[in-house]
Amino acid sequence: MLSLFDVLILKSCPACRKRRAVRLRGAILIGALVMAVVSAACTTSFTGSVNGNGHGHGHVLYQYSTLVALMEGLYDGDATVASIRSHGDFGLGTFNGLDGEMVVVDGQVYQAGKDGASKVAGYSTKTPFAVVVFFLPDSTISIDTPMSCSVLEEIVTKSLPSSNIPYAIRVDGQFVSVTARTASPQSKPYRKLSVAIKEQSTFEIKDKTGTLIGFYIPEYMKDLNVKGYHFHFISDDRAVGGHLLDCRVAKATVYVEAMKTVSVDLPGGSDFYDAKMGGVVENDVDKVEKDTHK
Ligand code: ZN
Repeated sequence: MLSLFDVLILKSCPACRKRRAVRLRGAILIGALVMAVVSAACTTSFTGSVNGNGHGHGHVLYQYSTLVALMEGLYDGDATVASIRSHGDFGLGTFNGLDGEMVVVDGQVYQAGKDGASKVAGYSTKTPFAVVVFFLPDSTISIDTPMSCSVLEEIVTKSLPSSNIPYAIRVDGQFVSVTARTASPQSKPYRKLSVAIKEQSTFEIKDKTGTLIGFYIPEYMKDLNVKGYHFHFISDDRAVGGHLLDCRVAKATVYVEAMKTVSVDLPGGSDFYDAKMGGVVENDVDKVEKDTHK
């Protein structure tokens, strides 16, 4: 079967920052499209369809509620896993009452609880904060040498065409180590997240293959979402997962999708309407996102 297609190939080199786009029109057999453009000097390639991902939601970052609301202790949302799933097949978040960490990967929604123990989340389970996309990566980076995840983030940063838009990022890798945490369920009256998170369960995983699911968010969106990089981990067997604090990879493949649209659903109800939300305190966000304290 022959099919006509348009495809944009953008070849990207983080070292030299040169880019060139080549527009191709052609036909392929069996309708399969497999494009891999890898620079010998660099490890980054960019391949993607200009026609979106077929869901009609291409390059849309969808989120329910805001980081500032979560930081203020609004832990009970009215969005279900089913509604989150209708907006994406890849992402992260948490559950009502801070009952663990949400990992959305390959269309499945997982709930990682104490010590990272993960299970499939029920569709009626509710969330106070979640971020998802229909993941359609438009660039890949091959990591062939062991490195810390902070170095990996630096490599990703150099490959990004701009730091002013969000990206969805998937890292499939062999992990030498993963330090992760899961939030502990809270009871009312809820305390601010920077306080509640002190009860987190922190754990370390050694020598696992798995996936990081995450986002890069521009600085100017810091009240809406976690600025910079924010990843959740899940093992290949989907048995263990959590919010990433640190990691080291032996080798990995990084997939990046640039976002063109941000869509935010705001919770209804008096909790959200009446909360005092002046903006996030960055030191508090660092405590929540990066601290390994128990
Ligand atoms: Zn997280």
